[in-house]
Amino acid sequence: MKLRITIDGPAGAGKSTVARELAQALGYGYLDTGAMYRALTLAALRNGVGGDNEAGLKDLLETIDLRLEHGHLRLDGADVADEIRQPAVDRMVSLVAAHPSVRTALVARQRQMASAGGVVMDGRDAGSVVLPEAECKFFLTASLAARAGRRHREMLAQGVRVDIVDVEREMASRDAQDEMRAVGALKVPEGAIVVDTTGLSVAEVVERLLNYCRERGA
Ligand code: C5P
Repeated sequence: MKLRITIDGPAGAGKSTVARELAQALGYGYLDTGAMYRALTLAALRNGVGGDNEAGLKDLLETIDLRLEHGHLRLDGADVADEIRQPAVDRMVSLVAAHPSVRTALVARQRQMASAGGVVMDGRDAGSVVLPEAECKFFLTASLAARAGRRHREMLAQGVRVDIVDVEREMASRDAQDEMRAVGALKVPEGAIVVDTTGLSVAEVVERLLNYCRERGA
């Protein structure tokens, strides 16, 4: 049976790596909803649209071409995987993602992309808002130090030199904004299995999730 699997949680809990590997193990598609909010933010930065300009962001969303190819998002035909992880995008994305009309538009696209099932979707509201009927829901979490350490290593590997203290501060601020917004707030979805990934390897987390999904018929 082709299930719908959601993985939510705060920044740096390992969601995207785990989601990608879980999707691969099951032969499912992978849908990174954060990449969609990030791509819109990148487009806003390029076009001089402010993060607080809800109407401008909504208009921008209608003019850009956001497409998912093999789990990688393309913005106007270009692979923007590295650019959407830049610190400037990190700082602005939660502001962009807080606007109700932006969320309504992106959530509709996410539901449409997942409509055939056989999908692993990661985000903040995947199991609570986008796919509340998903058969398997997970919430990954980890200590702030572990999450910041993970993100810092990723950034260094991409050649982005930043201080770990700044990474930790930015992450805590983004989590607070994501938890406090009025719509699509970061929270444990009803019926989700909570997994603390602090001290666990990616392989261990994937195995745990995979076993659970297989028990449910994946
Ligand atoms: O998952 P990632 O860290 O790439 O997400 C970047 C940002 O996009 C989050 O901090 C959040 O503000 C926003 N986001 C969201 N809803 C989602 C996924 C991401 O608001 N489903």
